[in-house]
Amino acid sequence: MSVIEETYDVVVVGAGHAGCEAALACARLGLETIIFTVSMDSVALMPCNPNIGGSSKGHLVRELDALGGQMGINIDKTFLQSKMLNKSKGPAVHSLRAQADKLMYSVEMKKTLQQQEHLTLRQAEVSEIMVEDGKIVGAKTFSGGTYYCKAVVLCTGTYLKARCLYGDVIEYTGPNGLKAANSLSQSLLDAGIELRRFKTGTPARIDGSTIDYSKMEEQFGDERIVPFSFTTDPESIQKEQVSCYLTYTNEETHKIIRANLDRSPMYSGVIEGTGPRYCPSIEDKVVKFAEKNRHQLFVEPEGLTTNEMYISGMSSSMPEDVQYAMYHTVPGLEHAKIVRNAYAIEYDCIDANQLYATLEFKKIKGLFAGGQFNGSSGYEEAAAQGLVAGINAALEVLNRDQIVLDRSESYIGVLIDDLVTKESHEPYRMMTSRAEYRLLLRQDNADLRLSKIGHEVGLISDDRYDWVCQKQKLIAEEIKRVNETNIGANQKVQDLLSSLDSIPIHNGVKLSDLIRRPELSYDLLESIDPNRPSLPEEVREQVNINIKYEGYITRQIKQVEHFKKIESKKIPAEIDYDDVPSLRIEARQKLNKLRPLNMGQASRISGVSPADISVLLVYLEQAKYLNKDET
Ligand SMILES: Cc1cc2nc3c(=O)[nH]c(=O)nc-3n(C[C@H](O)[C@H](O)[C@H](O)COP(=O)(O)OP(=O)(O)OC[C@H]3O[C@@H](n4cnc5c(N)ncnc54)[C@H](O)[C@@H]3O)c2cc1C
Repeated sequence: MSVIEETYDVVVVGAGHAGCEAALACARLGLETIIFTVSMDSVALMPCNPNIGGSSKGHLVRELDALGGQMGINIDKTFLQSKMLNKSKGPAVHSLRAQADKLMYSVEMKKTLQQQEHLTLRQAEVSEIMVEDGKIVGAKTFSGGTYYCKAVVLCTGTYLKARCLYGDVIEYTGPNGLKAANSLSQSLLDAGIELRRFKTGTPARIDGSTIDYSKMEEQFGDERIVPFSFTTDPESIQKEQVSCYLTYTNEETHKIIRANLDRSPMYSGVIEGTGPRYCPSIEDKVVKFAEKNRHQLFVEPEGLTTNEMYISGMSSSMPEDVQYAMYHTVPGLEHAKIVRNAYAIEYDCIDANQLYATLEFKKIKGLFAGGQFNGSSGYEEAAAQGLVAGINAALEVLNRDQIVLDRSESYIGVLIDDLVTKESHEPYRMMTSRAEYRLLLRQDNADLRLSKIGHEVGLISDDRYDWVCQKQKLIAEEIKRVNETNIGANQKVQDLLSSLDSIPIHNGVKLSDLIRRPELSYDLLESIDPNRPSLPEEVREQVNINIKYEGYITRQIKQVEHFKKIESKKIPAEIDYDDVPSLRIEARQKLNKLRPLNMGQASRISGVSPADISVLLVYLEQAKYLNKDET
């Protein structure tokens, strides 16, 4: 057995979407970092859907970019098609989604890691964490190497004790037949970490040359492509795009599935792990939505260097013969050749209640975790957690205060707070409905909300932050000017209004009042606004949104002020809830287990009632834990 011994500041276990962000954050903050993966050919692998972003996930990518993360930049370099979703709805749910060239996405991310100073990549299976007196001191590999360090970030994804299942076939591998990581789970259990089994699934990959696209609806990207990263020049990414295609299952498909449910490991009980409710398999959809006579399927390209097509909406763990039969019932797939079978994967992960909102384990100082390992699902959710876990591991090593993003300032804050505070019995997927303050947490203003934190941490450069401050100033000045600009009821104005199907004005009005009309916007009124300064598109977008939704935004800002008041009531770490009289047993148990950092977090724990919160507030006040002027 080898006697390799090396010392780093940070060890990152996993080079998936979480691990890459964590390792880059640590190395970019100047720390010697080593990142492990079971295969150097699977860096930032996309084992499932070939796209980044989508509803609420696009918000996560934009926020990650504003904090200094890599995913946004990486997809801007490797996308095949780009689309702004929900454009017909309000800006709170506008979400960017880009189809990715999976191979190029991985190649580009690997290149970024390899070019990063202070970062070492290593293909090896980490089999053990080393803990002394409740503090992490290093990790060991299956091949016997010992890597001492001051912090470890676990981003093991879907690999721990992984097994892949379809029909009665069980393969003890990670995704795409890659090696599973079978040793680390025991070491985590020995360290007192609780593990659980989750599962997720993926559809078959079909040989594109065997698909009849004439039976499907072609889906095009947007004419004007909007970048994910605030650092990407929009002009540099305008390019020809690749199409996706829409088709549907039908009663024939559903009949085959119903007739073979007992052969699906999901329904025969072979699969132990719990799957994502919001990413159901086709079996689940046919069983749970029996009244539906068809389900949408999107046929998406996997990349320019392969003819494999991904059948979104048809993930399954049915036996191979059933897969052929059910895919062949779909219009356009009658002669499809399956390149890779659909399958389900089960793996070890944790309940993130074991973590603080910094993503550090409560039990082991210096041990952090991010990604699917924390019980979430999705590339974007993983990358967002990886970045926060990486930043906090670095700040821990640098003896600086760790960051906690709260629910009022980011989707990342909502994601992490939900994971560490709420009970979850299935993989957690982000949705806009989870964010109370979503009108403020739009994807278009992520840089205005989070760049300051990214700059304070040290991942956003001075130049970049200066531009964000300049942008904020330009937006405020222009909103002020627009609110003070009078528009007279002259012929030119009336002509423009009628050309835009907007009712005429009878007296002078404020320009802002016109902008607020649903059929009008800041850009549409340029010709009647002579003193308008020339402003970049991203500034004009903010002026338009802030004026149009001013009322809603103001109301939400008030709600956030109330939220922050509760959130700012810290709870002393040493409190013993058994000492708090008249606290209900369930609340006592939950609070002792979850150890919330503040009253806001305590109020979101299921089983802790508003009455319990009042009891706790009084107790803390009486115990003079709160100095009077904070309340
Ligand atoms: C079959 C399948 C279907 C999926 N379906 C969906 C879906 O429908 N919807 C959805 O949102 N998401 C889905 N996902 C999930 C999505 O892939 C993940 O959310 C995302 O990849 C998680 O990123 P991650 O960084 O947490 O982990 P991963 O991308 O899984 O990366 C984990 C990394 O850790 C490394 N690793 C693990 N253990 C060790 C060890 N002990 N030593 C060294 N290296 C180690 C691996 O080599 C890998 O680099 C699916 C995943 C799979 C596999």
